[in-house]
Amino acid sequence: MKKRAVFPGSFDPFTIGHEGIVRRALTLFDEIIIAVGANPLKKSLYSVETRKKMISEVFKGDPRIKVDHYEGLTVDYCKKHNAMYILRGLRTSADFEFERAIAQMNRIMAPEIESVFILTVPEHTPVNSTIIRDIIRSGGDASMFVPSLIKLSDYKTDDED
Ligand code: ADP
Repeated sequence: MKKRAVFPGSFDPFTIGHEGIVRRALTLFDEIIIAVGANPLKKSLYSVETRKKMISEVFKGDPRIKVDHYEGLTVDYCKKHNAMYILRGLRTSADFEFERAIAQMNRIMAPEIESVFILTVPEHTPVNSTIIRDIIRSGGDASMFVPSLIKLSDYKTDDED
């Protein structure tokens, strides 16, 4: 059976930190589904469709990466897609505490699904989508924080609607 992981997140926008986690996880899994969580309670900068387009651009031509979106529980999405692993990235102890609670609760709900964490490389520790959104909203250049295949100027933000 294929080892399939789901990498769930907001990815608003997808960063070099996220890309690093996915590329390193490709040594562990046969297939990774990058699943953009559509959280109606979070005010996003980019629409779910735009975020998916950006991520697809980074991994185009790699059949091991799928890009999708979902609503609802991550564990339900994993079961539906026969994924036994949830992939997450860790930057700081704050990330760890947050991720620990989610992973332990997911484990109670779905003990067959394992959460797997990859520690970011030191240079990606400060890379944070929330700060990148602030930079973009303030008219700054955030290109060094996103994968080079994502040309931010090609994408409309929801703020422009
Ligand atoms: P969420 O809203 O689910 O936290 P994010 O898009 O902020 O979504 O993050 C998705 C995952 O990527 C989380 O596990 C987060 O800890 C991880 N992550 C975010 N930024 C980085 C980074 N710079 N390096 C490594 N992992 C990261």
